[in-house]
Amino acid sequence: MSVSQAQDVGFLRIFVDMFVDTHTHFYDEWLLPDAEAAIQRALDAGVGKMIQADVDSHERPAMWEVGRRHPGVLFQMLGLYPGSVAADWREELDQVFSLSGERDCVAIGEIGLDYHEGLEFVQQQKEVLRQQLELAASLDLPVNIHLRDAWEDFLAILADCKHLNLRGNLHCFTSSYEIYERANKYGDFSVGIGGVVTFKNASIAKTLERIPMEKILLETDAPYLAPVPFRGKRNESSYLPCIAAKVAEIKGKSLQEIESITTDNALTLFNLSPSPEGRGFGRG
Ligand SMILES: [Zn+2]
Repeated sequence: MSVSQAQDVGFLRIFVDMFVDTHTHFYDEWLLPDAEAAIQRALDAGVGKMIQADVDSHERPAMWEVGRRHPGVLFQMLGLYPGSVAADWREELDQVFSLSGERDCVAIGEIGLDYHEGLEFVQQQKEVLRQQLELAASLDLPVNIHLRDAWEDFLAILADCKHLNLRGNLHCFTSSYEIYERANKYGDFSVGIGGVVTFKNASIAKTLERIPMEKILLETDAPYLAPVPFRGKRNESSYLPCIAAKVAEIKGKSLQEIESITTDNALTLFNLSPSPEGRGFGRG
């Protein structure tokens, strides 16, 4: 290795020594009043990059506004959240499609199916998901998937969309290894591991033992689902190392190894530059 190559690698190491929160919501009304301080606390805790998941047109302006103030640190997804699919779904979806041509987003998300709050818009949710999977493929972007009580319908749609060669992550993954394997028959999917893994007797801990390290991403889903010892309180990205520590324990690895592998996974999947200056890095 030449001196300049060694210097390059050393330069990269400095920036790769950080965590990436792959799913957070600074614009949520619970967190927004304190967003600037929370972003600083995250940076102080070694969380160098954070990706905000989009939900709908009502919250989107606040998301872009917070994101705009932190280039290279905050990144945004674009997508219509299944819980926001209602009678106006066509207009909501139109806005996602038109913004996808003008805004710099790193993923289509959070999209998926959520049957927990009711089944009134199940057909519309499926249609919205299908169209957004196609959008992600057409833009060559990863997807960030939210699922609740809807695995079988999701896997059926994924099977239909196999030709799209989708890649992405299953956010807040708490399901079985079998489900993880089935999803990976139809695309290239990582799992987003959040605060739930730190809860007592969390079944995801057993599943996680079998999931390969290169398929694991860390996320907080702040302001929701705070990890132990903050369980029940407002969550924020600065708590990400608590999740990483639990993953380290489960995988029998050091915290530093978890940090470096999951950060590498996140930078690759979401095509982020490891430098603090933003995107680019010759990868599009
Ligand atoms: Zn979320």
